[in-house]
Amino acid sequence: MTFKRFAEYLARIEAESGRLEIIRMLSELFSELSPEELPKAVLLLTGRVAPEFLGLEFGVAEKEAAKALALALGADEGEVWKRVREVGDLGRVAEELLPEREGGIPLLEVYQELLALAQDSGPGSQLRKRERLAALLKRASPLEAVYILRIVTGRLRLGVGEATILEALAQAVLGDRGKRPLLERAYNLTSDLAYVAELALKGEEALAQVQVQVGKPIRMMLAERLPSPEMIMKKLGRHIAEYKYDGERIQVHYDGERFWIYSRRIENITHQYPDLLEAFREHLKKPYILEAEAVVHDPVTGEPLPFQYVLNRKVKHLTEALMERYPVRAYVFELLYLDGEPLLDLPLVERRKRLESFVPPSERFEPSTARWIETVEELEAFYEEALEVGDEGLMCKKPDGNYEAGKRGFKWVKFKRAAGGRLADTLDVVVVGAWWGRGRRSGTYGSLLVATYNPEEDRFETVSKVGSGFTDEDLQKILPQRLDPLRREEPSPRVWALLEPDVWFEPGLVIEVEAQEITLSPNHTCAYGKVKEGRGLALRFPRFLRYRDDKKPEEATTSQEVVELYRMQWK
Ligand code: AMP
Repeated sequence: MTFKRFAEYLARIEAESGRLEIIRMLSELFSELSPEELPKAVLLLTGRVAPEFLGLEFGVAEKEAAKALALALGADEGEVWKRVREVGDLGRVAEELLPEREGGIPLLEVYQELLALAQDSGPGSQLRKRERLAALLKRASPLEAVYILRIVTGRLRLGVGEATILEALAQAVLGDRGKRPLLERAYNLTSDLAYVAELALKGEEALAQVQVQVGKPIRMMLAERLPSPEMIMKKLGRHIAEYKYDGERIQVHYDGERFWIYSRRIENITHQYPDLLEAFREHLKKPYILEAEAVVHDPVTGEPLPFQYVLNRKVKHLTEALMERYPVRAYVFELLYLDGEPLLDLPLVERRKRLESFVPPSERFEPSTARWIETVEELEAFYEEALEVGDEGLMCKKPDGNYEAGKRGFKWVKFKRAAGGRLADTLDVVVVGAWWGRGRRSGTYGSLLVATYNPEEDRFETVSKVGSGFTDEDLQKILPQRLDPLRREEPSPRVWALLEPDVWFEPGLVIEVEAQEITLSPNHTCAYGKVKEGRGLALRFPRFLRYRDDKKPEEATTSQEVVELYRMQWK
């Protein structure tokens, strides 16, 4: 396939808002691609040339890309940039200025060029990248240039989520979009869409046999919530409860030689914890994959400090001084692979046994504190104990539960009470729009339109307007800094909204909010019609608490969870 034909598909997909129609177009596209092209095309659809966990970025700012365009056109850089500022979209300017061309560049060739561009680094790379991009643009037709430029500048916004790509792959390759779970399983175990596409081409058998691989992040298992110890006992019966630590969740991979640490968002954050790795290297000798919560402790009192403190380690150059100021300790709560054997399908009790015998308590890490719970009284006492030592609450786990990669379910139930408000827990919501502020807030955002995630439909459903809880710094600096790059003219096709904010955003920023209550609302689309016809669910008196950069939009609170929270209010 030519990149031109691919770009035509992208343009059609971008203009479409119906999910089923998008799936149909994607699967038509996939059916047209050769086996060699398919995995690459799948990556390009996500705006990448390698799976996200490899951290391969293009490193081309919009201004640099404009220079490349000027070079390709033999035009003046200043003039091109001026036009970009007028039009507001570099791709459109390329489309306007480049001549139409017959034929098209082969998709694989564009992929190779983009890969080479992303891999180039070090001294002089900026200039080389510019020249490489210019050479590609010189051969490109206007529509090809639009998408090449959007991809390299990180602005490809098709509004197509991974779940949708998997469903279209199931349709195109396995002939049935109902077979998405088969692909999803492979994806949850490897976090690698291109690899899943390759496996799908080999057939269902190959997909079913895929196992976790050291070095490839496993998509993390997530917890449901229940508001009272009584309900937890009713749901789980006799179970294992663990302290719920408030730090950063890390997945550590060791192949006997090399280490990888992945975040909840499947980013490679190995560089953030050299001190932890040293301790792991010293004590744990066999290859493994484990999960832990990395918690910063007060260097003087030894008390655990909340999640935000971990952010101090997210710097380009982590110094010894920073590591001493923000010392971490890891509480290991999962062992998913040990010495050649995947453990995900074992019951929790069995995994826990292996974990305890493999992970000795040491100065930098230890197994999470866990206890068998048989009664409500025991659960309450353990909960108070967790709070007393400075942790957040409890994680209650089904003893016979397997590790369900990438899934949220009742095999893990979190138990924490919100301070003050009536709701049992805070919500993590995605910012999808905003209204301009007035008075003291003029010139910045006055309130945000936030949404929950609906995984079945792969879309974001609005649940509230949030205007309180922000500091002046949030309003003047942090919010514009984070939200401006996500602005878009129209709502993303993945956002379902009835309200019309002044500005729309690509779903990207996740924030944690608390609220007093959940109410029915004709204006919000969260779980629309699920509880009552013609009504969605909305938050009453919402308040911003903190940024959740550790979460992807797809990891936000789901609409179904809001339904459960709504129902719990009456219990
Ligand atoms: P939440 O972020 O509120 O959905 O809570 C789930 C998170 O709690 C997990 O992703 C972990 O980062 C964290 N956590 C803390 N302690 C534990 C534990 N003992 N078991 C599992 N997860 C834990």
